[in-house]
Amino acid sequence: MQRYLASCHCGNVKFAFCTQVDELVMCNCSLCTRRNAMMLTVRRDALQILSGEDSLTLYQWNTHAARHYFCTRCGVYTFHQRRIDPEVYGVNAFCVEGLDVAALPVRKMDGRSR
Ligand SMILES: [Zn+2]
Repeated sequence: MQRYLASCHCGNVKFAFCTQVDELVMCNCSLCTRRNAMMLTVRRDALQILSGEDSLTLYQWNTHAARHYFCTRCGVYTFHQRRIDPEVYGVNAFCVEGLDVAALPVRKMDGRSR
């Protein structure tokens, strides 16, 4: 597994995680569609916030089970704790340093009907 560094746009929020990146996840739920999210799957215990935790705010909707975080200064979605499995986070692939997003296969997730 490789260690990755990631940040929001303004740089307030910095985080790191270890995972095996094989694919991007694209979800068709109403939130992921609007935020144009392409995500990586990261285990909760493999993700570490390095700085700017106080800049993150929480957005919850519908069942309020998932925890969606974004930076209060620049508005960028960083990651979220999944509804179906709280031990797993979805991470915004475009926040990750040095990741060739365009080279990865995309797996479609049907979040709209689950
Ligand atoms: Zn920011």
